[in-house]
Amino acid sequence: MTLFRERRGNSMLELTGKTAIITGASRGIGKAIAMKLASLGADIAFLHFMDSENAAKTEQELSALGVRAKGYECNVADFEATATAINQVIEDFGEVHILVNNAGIVRDNLILKMTEADFDAVLSVNLKGAFNMIKNLYPHFMKKRRGRIINIASIVGINGNAGQANYASAKAGMIGLTKSVAKELGARNVTVNAIAPGFIHTDMTDGMPEKAREAALAAIPLKRAGEVEDIANLAAFLASDEAAYITGEVIKVDGGMAI
Ligand code: NAP
Repeated sequence: MTLFRERRGNSMLELTGKTAIITGASRGIGKAIAMKLASLGADIAFLHFMDSENAAKTEQELSALGVRAKGYECNVADFEATATAINQVIEDFGEVHILVNNAGIVRDNLILKMTEADFDAVLSVNLKGAFNMIKNLYPHFMKKRRGRIINIASIVGINGNAGQANYASAKAGMIGLTKSVAKELGARNVTVNAIAPGFIHTDMTDGMPEKAREAALAAIPLKRAGEVEDIANLAAFLASDEAAYITGEVIKVDGGMAI
């Protein structure tokens, strides 16, 4: 191993020659991750579901960065649909090196008012969606003997949150999934990590009631909401060769909210 003997003027991460699949990249955090990885040279296949207009925009903006980029309409909660989408991506792009499980929804309510359907919907998209993607890419990663899986969890999955029992359960499940798959796939040179964002400025948090937004902001030592780029920067690092020896970790990006 060479111990930093060469001095590089620009220590930018490099993802040229890599292909990433990112779920839920029509907007928000997923789109920022797609743009960041593409800016470092990665080709991008991304999944979207309802928002085909924004997905088309994302595809154009990614292509303008000079990489191959394609959006696939797919409900991550549907096992067969994820299998079909992944097979299509492998046919279109060849090897897949990076999987980012980002697609997520909220259906907030106190348990007293939370319906069974709200609980099931959030678990199906946020947790089972990640399982579906990992399960269907697992043989590919095993065969290639390399890969990066990055799961977008939440600090709510670590600390819990009143009014988000479904979401917190799904995100806590994602953390268990991350650690288990890290143990299963480590010998195949596949790293599996989770990012736990705090309060990030996106459509998801814009939809929160004003009082809840104010309470969230007041609880952040850095005194501001995070930006999508704050999450994308860590995702890029975890996807890069520089993070080759990090696996099974849950890394908070929350301005200190969950200290
Ligand atoms: P967002 O702006 O609401 O975007 C959600 C994305 O997920 C969209 O691209 C959406 O695609 C996609 N999606 C939703 N349901 C899907 C499904 N069934 N199949 C495929 N794609 C689906 O959310 P965000 O704030 O960027 O959040 C992204 C991730 O970060 C989520 O997992 C969220 O839980 C997590 N997170 C966010 C925050 C925050 O403060 N924003 C904090 C912690 C964790 P379509 O629009 O095409 O349906």
